[in-house]
Amino acid sequence: ATPLAMIRGGGMAARQGILMRSGEAFQVLKDVKKVVLDKTGTITRGEPAVVEVVALDGYDEEEVLRLAAAAESSSEHPLARAVVDAVSERGISVPEVRDFQAVAGKGVTASVEEHRLAVGSPRFVEGEGADLAPAREKLADLQAAGNTVVALAVDGEPAALIALADRIKDDAVEAVERLKAAGLEPVMLTGDNERTARAVAREVGIEEYRAEVLPQDKAYVVRELQEQGHRVLMVGDGINDAPALMQSDVGIAIGAGTDIAIESADIVLVGERLGAVVDAYHIGVSSYRKTVQNIT
Ligand code: ADP
Ligand code: MG
Repeated sequence: ATPLAMIRGGGMAARQGILMRSGEAFQVLKDVKKVVLDKTGTITRGEPAVVEVVALDGYDEEEVLRLAAAAESSSEHPLARAVVDAVSERGISVPEVRDFQAVAGKGVTASVEEHRLAVGSPRFVEGEGADLAPAREKLADLQAAGNTVVALAVDGEPAALIALADRIKDDAVEAVERLKAAGLEPVMLTGDNERTARAVAREVGIEEYRAEVLPQDKAYVVRELQEQGHRVLMVGDGINDAPALMQSDVGIAIGAGTDIAIESADIVLVGERLGAVVDAYHIGVSSYRKTVQNIT
């Protein structure tokens, strides 16, 4: 049976929007060292918005937005939704596409009006045959400012860079400070590129991060840390994060979270606040101490 102190801790946690799906994981919290935080939706708000459109040679802004939105209209990715929203706000009408395909952690491809489109990470779009070398400097600048940059290629030729910004949560800096003060070591994990990752990590005060991690490799990063001898707490919100949440010693789903993330987690945070992760940790540790005191 669950000791009384555990139940007491659970009640206190629940009042703060911290729901335990397993009492066991709550007891493991005291042994945790590494805290793996997904970038998008965990550290940031997860609501990217288009902030700059750079049309490359021969294209104008309206045309590249129209094409990018067409390719993205069938994607459920937050970046895709942001592109579609920006285009509908400008009243640009979007053509139908054929042969839509989404590649997880990379981007999408589709055909429109006899043209072949690729929209996604610069690396993905280059892999689709577009040489982004002429836009490299602009790309680096946009990324160094913390933007996620999505590229558009039309028939294998570079057509645009679209910069999207997603703000860090209001309490992110404070939450990271509190994590460190508790002796924990935060590690940021993202599918986004190296430069953007570095800028966001620096903004919130995280030194250790892994960028360009494909969705299927997130769990592998958790396992790597475990193989180094650490107990790992993983915090995430997306479908991509479910295997990593399962692999971790304690998995925390944050925010609205997708159903699959919630089902894969040991602890569910009702709100968006990153600080609730630290609250959960402290409640777990102190309820463990009470349990030990009650037994001895
Ligand atoms: P995160 O780890 O931030 O949740 P993802 O793994 O979902 O990111 O995606 C990683 C990268 O792949 C994005 O930063 C983006 O460059 C690219 N990407 C994935 N899906 C799309 C899409 N539908 N449209 C544009 N870019 C995409
Ligand atoms: Mg994510």
